[in-house]
Formats: sequence, C-alpha cells, structure tokens
Amino acid sequence: MSISYKCQLCDSTDADITATSDAKSNEKINIAFCKKCGLVQLKNIPTDDELKIYYSHNYRFDYKKTYHPTIKYVHRAELLQKVELHS
Ligand SMILES: [Zn+2]
Repeated sequence: MSISYKCQLCDSTDADITATSDAKSNEKINIAFCKKCGLVQLKNIPTDDELKIYYSHNYRFDYKKTYHPTIKYVHRAELLQKVELHS
C-alpha cells in the first residue's frame, strides 16, 4: 500500500506501512518503511512538544501500567547514576 509521507533521512516519498499498531501497547500507529533507504519511522512524526508531554505523562503508564516507578526501577536508576559518576 502506498502512502503519503516524507522520509526523515533521504526525503523520499516512496514508502509502505509495515505495522499499524505498537508491539507493546497495541496502540494504533502507522510505522512506515522507506523504499529508497530502508529507514523505518512513524508515518506522522510527533512534535518536540508532543514527545515532551508523552514521556513526562503517558510513557510509564503505556508500558508499565502505572504512573509511578516501582522501587525496582528507582534502585536501577540510582545504580546507573553511580556507575556514570565513577566512569
Ligand atoms: Zn529514506
């Protein structure tokens, strides 16, 4: 199926939809495959503001079904910070 879109890498407008839902959340989205360079991207790229809102409000719920991190992820983030400080 041909679609209207513009590749972020090579500006080609020749692409196909390769998936119509998010593999983890099952949310309906269109993922496009550029026929010229092979880049796979969302058909409709979110704006910086949309991404900021999504990652600060909805990401954790979509992928972990909670709005607050579990203690396991708090500890993991703490360990990663310690590793980064010592490297
Ligand atoms: Zn391309």
